[in-house]
Amino acid sequence: MDMPASAPLDRTARPLSGQVAVVTGSTSGIGLGIARAFAGAGAEVVINGIADQRTIDALCSECSGLGAQAVYDGANLLDPGEAAGLVTRTIARSGRIDILVNNAGIQHVAPVDEFPPARWDAIIALNLSAAFHTIRTAVPAMREQRSGRIINVASAHGLVASPFKSAYVAAKHGVLGLTKTVALEVARQGVTCNAICPGYVWTELVEKQIADTAAARGISHEQVISDVLLAAQPTKRFATVEEIGALTVFLAGEGASSITGTAISVDGGWTAQ
Ligand code: NAD
Repeated sequence: MDMPASAPLDRTARPLSGQVAVVTGSTSGIGLGIARAFAGAGAEVVINGIADQRTIDALCSECSGLGAQAVYDGANLLDPGEAAGLVTRTIARSGRIDILVNNAGIQHVAPVDEFPPARWDAIIALNLSAAFHTIRTAVPAMREQRSGRIINVASAHGLVASPFKSAYVAAKHGVLGLTKTVALEVARQGVTCNAICPGYVWTELVEKQIADTAAARGISHEQVISDVLLAAQPTKRFATVEEIGALTVFLAGEGASSITGTAISVDGGWTAQ
């Protein structure tokens, strides 16, 4: 039987110092909130996503100012080779990968019989398959280190469905299956794999779908916010990127060593109903 490690749980105020974290899709929204939280906790952060050079430079210097070094890797995660390359380049540069957050995601809202097949393929490629490619590349290094944290940003839509989001709901349910499977495969090697299931968080991804949802349902923008988005959340407020950042820091830390294969909801009570 494995005995629990005896290292103290509360090391310092910077619990992730010395650790290397990759956060996909961290140039905006939830991923950026996670990157900032990791940097504040002392981790070296690899920022990834689509942004102009000025934004990238500003984000890297902001995160570097908070903690350890922050670097940018522009891998296009729609491409399996680039998704794997994001991890191999990190290991080549830093000698290790301690935390992998699969966060990059896109959305498209349309009835299933009008859903463009190319959008379906892109959503599955980015929201689900990219996580497979980063994970399959990171696991051997984490196994060898005998430590690692894989955190997949799924969604309340990994647990329940909403109409007009067939590809997104399918991908996010898939992320939860991937999370559980990987957790079982690496459980004896000091590596955990968990999913976070946010409800609605005010980010570009949500802003962009309001117009499509209004069109698909034949209602106004204001009605989408009150009758569709916040209707699902008993707290009647959007979750924040800071709340999700704080949870990822906890999941990445020693105190979360026995949490694996699980989906943690940050949805204001949405899926309790
Ligand atoms: P966002 O649009 O603000 O951020 C998405 C990020 O992914 C950006 O950094 C973008 O540049 C990056 N990205 C897009 N295409 C990419 C590609 N081909 N390669 C690499 N990076 C790419 O969205 P967000 O709301 O912060 O969403 C982040 C994650 O959280 C997604 O997986 C989303 O499904 C999930 N989520 C969001 C909400 C919400 O309400 N915002 C709720 C539940 C789950």
